[in-house]
Amino acid sequence: MQDRQFPPPRPPEPSASAGFAVNRLDRRSERRDDADWIDALKQAPGARVLVLSGEIPVLKKASEHHAAPFTLDEAAGLGAMREIAFLGLDGDAPLFAALIDARAPEEDLNREDIAMVDLRSIATQDLLPVEMLGAFAQAKSLMHWHATHRFCANCGAPTRLAAAGWRRACDACGKQHFPRTDPVVIMLVVNGGDCLLGRHVGTVRAGYPKGTYSCLAGYVESGETCEDAVRREVFEEAGIKIGRVDYYASQPWPFPATLMIGCIAEAIGRDVQIDPKEIEDARWFSREEAELILTDAHPDGLRCPPKLAIANLLISAWVSGEAR
Ligand SMILES: [Zn+2]
Repeated sequence: MQDRQFPPPRPPEPSASAGFAVNRLDRRSERRDDADWIDALKQAPGARVLVLSGEIPVLKKASEHHAAPFTLDEAAGLGAMREIAFLGLDGDAPLFAALIDARAPEEDLNREDIAMVDLRSIATQDLLPVEMLGAFAQAKSLMHWHATHRFCANCGAPTRLAAAGWRRACDACGKQHFPRTDPVVIMLVVNGGDCLLGRHVGTVRAGYPKGTYSCLAGYVESGETCEDAVRREVFEEAGIKIGRVDYYASQPWPFPATLMIGCIAEAIGRDVQIDPKEIEDARWFSREEAELILTDAHPDGLRCPPKLAIANLLISAWVSGEAR
């Protein structure tokens, strides 16, 4: 069989350094409608499945790295699999995702060999190999979509899983529904030797410690380019006009199903006027100060999001001169 693996680009693409970005699965999207092929993959001895209990990954406990994939029989022993989707081939080994009924994590399925850990903690605590994070991001976003799209948006009838999990079909009206990914622009605003960082309202609630400064960000709206979304969001949140916008890197962000589009945005002015409904504080940081934040050495204890987040990647790339 022809080797379908793409060679790694040289130099490496910036996106490859983002959390959840490494995913080696060959998705074989052209064969998802071949039910016989998918059934044969489920019977293959190497077939494995990533299990989610609602939004929470279910892992096999281990002393160091936990292990994620179960055999299909093991997964069936964890509870009824409400949906099962084909993620792709890892070499010759088929990998699936399965959704079981949501339970409180503390219940831990009453099994001592099982751990239930949210995906953000798995990533920040290094509980799984990095390739598995990308596959789990794919599984989590897809299963979130299945869990929240059980009924047809066109006629209201129940829908059923189709195309090995990459479509939901409505038998009542014939409408086909496809998994969605929401684009979000996240931008490092720069001017001269400085960059603009802010604190979104609710940052502490989102799990980041007090004193965390990050890039501005916002959803791309209908009929908008990424560049226009960057200009609109920065002006709305910080009152700053933006000229040139350059794409730098992107990141799948499975909370629940976002594509983060990381950009560098050149500010025309420097006068910050925050929208207090969205931003608690925003101010300019010199390159030296941004470096102190990155290395957790800022004299005022200011920080930025962890390496997992694309904001960290954007700030690091600008501090090192790789992105400008
Ligand atoms: Zn319908």
